Amino acid sequence: MKDYLVRATGLNGKVRMFAARTTELVEEMRRRHDMFPTAAAALGRTATAAAMMGSMLKGKEKVSVQVKGNGPIGTIVADANAVGEVRGYVDDPHVHLPSNALGKLDVAGAVGREGYIYIIKDLGLREPYRGSIPIVSGELAEDFTYYFAKSEQTPSAVSLGVLVDTDNSIKNAGGFILQLLPGLSDEDIDLLEKKLAAIPSVTTMLESGLTPEDMLKELVGDLSSVETVDLRFQCFCSRERVENTLVSLGKDELDAILAEDGRAEVVCHFCNEKYDFNREELVAIRERMNA
Ligand code: ZN
Repeated sequence: MKDYLVRATGLNGKVRMFAARTTELVEEMRRRHDMFPTAAAALGRTATAAAMMGSMLKGKEKVSVQVKGNGPIGTIVADANAVGEVRGYVDDPHVHLPSNALGKLDVAGAVGREGYIYIIKDLGLREPYRGSIPIVSGELAEDFTYYFAKSEQTPSAVSLGVLVDTDNSIKNAGGFILQLLPGLSDEDIDLLEKKLAAIPSVTTMLESGLTPEDMLKELVGDLSSVETVDLRFQCFCSRERVENTLVSLGKDELDAILAEDGRAEVVCHFCNEKYDFNREELVAIRERMNA
């Protein structure tokens, strides 16, 4: 099964829902960044939330989710857009902690229980939209639930999960977001709360072969306005962009690099690709800066 997300409504259009399978893209991030299990789970959950937030956008709009907690992992960044392209990294990928009291990966321990989550949306306007909320749990699903309620005034339920295999590869990953729209009756809300409390974890559902559509059907029964978007890991770095970064360092800094090493290696944070520049190439960039 490939990664994709589904967007749908339920309960006669009174609930908007998103569900995603992100196993392959989380595995690609884990491999590219050589991530240890707890770090991979933290980035995987963040990237899954970002992928679903990306699908709330249109056209060329983009969202960047930045989790800055006080835990050992440092900052988590995940970017996504409306066409299902997702990328991300953490400051320290080599974080693995003992399991928590529930026997699960201690994501809150890695993220930290204090700090902020920033949501930056590039909507093609002069200024990006910026929302932020304090971290409330560090387990992330609860934190995103709080973000939607607080920053976007949309009561939501968010569930995220990453299951790491014994060889540290990603066995499965995914999540869902359910957003309550105006018009829901108290009975509808009661029913949904009961369903949410009883539903197995996302990783249990994916393990038993449920698709993103199936997960949503577990919650609301019949789906309508169903749309799917393929998801994949995709970085936007290029040699040209890296050259621009070198230019932005300024003439003095480039002169210093030329005097010291005479070469530069630039690594993309998001995908870990290496870009090497030899002396000739650096001199050419330096000369363009004089022009
Ligand atoms: Zn890159």
